[in-house]
Amino acid sequence: MYAAGIDVGSTQTKCIVLDENRNICGRGLRMTGADVMKASRQVFEQACELAGIETHEVGYTIGTGYGRFRVATGDDQITEISCHAKGAVHLFPKTRTILDIGGQDTKAIRTNERGEVVDFCMNDKCAAGTGRFLAAAAEVMGMDVSEIGPASLQSTQKLKITNVCTVFVESEILNQLGRGKKREDILAGVHRSIAGRSASLLRRVGLDEELTFTGGVAKNPGMLDAVRTRTKLQVNASEDSQFMGALGAALFALERELAGANRQEVQS
Ligand code: ADP
Repeated sequence: MYAAGIDVGSTQTKCIVLDENRNICGRGLRMTGADVMKASRQVFEQACELAGIETHEVGYTIGTGYGRFRVATGDDQITEISCHAKGAVHLFPKTRTILDIGGQDTKAIRTNERGEVVDFCMNDKCAAGTGRFLAAAAEVMGMDVSEIGPASLQSTQKLKITNVCTVFVESEILNQLGRGKKREDILAGVHRSIAGRSASLLRRVGLDEELTFTGGVAKNPGMLDAVRTRTKLQVNASEDSQFMGALGAALFALERELAGANRQEVQS
């Protein structure tokens, strides 16, 4: 018995395939692009291939993320807020607060011990403080987005970046570079400014001693460090941080599939 979760994000589309024991046996990831249905189909096929199964062996699929209603193989849809909470509590059972920084928005989520959402707030009006902001900073520096976190950790001098606006950060960075400031110090300032913004969102839902960081930006070690320093909390992240929404969706899908199988058994 297999179940899948497909998270169609504004930037990247992710898929997780679970077996009946809730073990992850396949993952798929690609840029979302303009064709949402194609992206969802491709990550699903990729994850099934990695799991070593045929796509028809997956009994139930749940779509999540902004493009969830266009998931090609989806049986149902659940919001990414519920899915991130479900996935985070599954991987880190003591988690009650979640910070999800994705391509174009940031969410602070509060959950109970069952992974059910108790409260949340989000910044989705503009890209300030999101993955898009970090991508803009990387672009100005002529670096890949995966390089800026490690570079920021080399910083030796504290430097304040006042702008969190994606449009204006470019000129602020160029200005700092023009004044001879070091690239790693500027980048550390960029990461600190996002951590500060994220901490304000987190305070609105309430902070607990254990925080789980999800979304693609959790793959950035500079952001992990900045959030840890700012919140002074234990910050969990895993290899699957970017897959957390897809994992939560797959867990919901598996529950539905198992419930369906039990119903059939009772009837027969
Ligand atoms: P969404 O669901 O909104 O599409 P994701 O949670 O998938 O967003 O995260 C996408 C973001 O993660 C992008 O802004 C991307 O730059 C960032 N990202 C992905 N991989 C890495 C990495 N290795 N290092 C740093 N940032 C990354």
